[in-house]
Amino acid sequence: MSERTPVIAGNWKMFKTNTEAAAYVAEFLALVVDAGPVEIVLCPPFTCLEAVRRELADGRVRVAAQNMHFEAEGAYTGEVSAPMLKEIGVTDVVLGHSERRQYFCENDADLARKTSTALAAGIRPILCVGESDREREAGGTNDKLKGQLEGGLAGISADQLPEMLIAYEPIWAIGTGKTATPEIAEETIAFIRGALAGQFGPQAARRVRILYGGSVNPGNIGELMKAENIDGALVGGASLDAAGFARIIRFKEA
Ligand code: PEP
Repeated sequence: MSERTPVIAGNWKMFKTNTEAAAYVAEFLALVVDAGPVEIVLCPPFTCLEAVRRELADGRVRVAAQNMHFEAEGAYTGEVSAPMLKEIGVTDVVLGHSERRQYFCENDADLARKTSTALAAGIRPILCVGESDREREAGGTNDKLKGQLEGGLAGISADQLPEMLIAYEPIWAIGTGKTATPEIAEETIAFIRGALAGQFGPQAARRVRILYGGSVNPGNIGELMKAENIDGALVGGASLDAAGFARIIRFKEA
């Protein structure tokens, strides 16, 4: 049994106004307040971050931004920086989600800067990596992941690795309803842990938590969480419903 505390994170993407977020949080908190030893993270849009953090003031739930710039301030229209997030109590930041890589041209060099900046600011990065269906079919999954890990973690030390989270999110499983089987998810996450051991040493790799993401729902979380190397889930669509997301968080009770 792993000593790593499970983490379940809900990525709302570009969903929910402040009004909708307030209704969600009121319902959600009551459903998870007595959930067992699992770390809970909500990732609302920027506009809801402060309100959600305030509503969750007891600290049971961590609050993550979905992106962040690597500079502290400057002429970067439309961007938000680490000090701005830190000031409003944001604890985590999702970096390198495949939608950001695809639609906003984020690359590994940007992500290396963002990862280091977040850690230096005391914000926990959740670095996403994952292959496309074409890359998997062509046998290129491991090379793709290794490249993303070496690139996105270029600036961090072995001591810093366990302070962050890695999310393995195969692009073919995101928002498609096509979850990776527990066997594929475990095999790939075990590969990621091995690659991290090569990059940072076995001790750091053993401690870092690696989440699976891609069409996770209340029906499949239990099997995924039985796998030795899967330390939690990054949940998109199924996190938008408070009751459903609470069921995912309480996966041990199902
Ligand atoms: C995600 O957005 O990170 C995600 C995994 O989405 P979904 O759960 O909807 O596949």
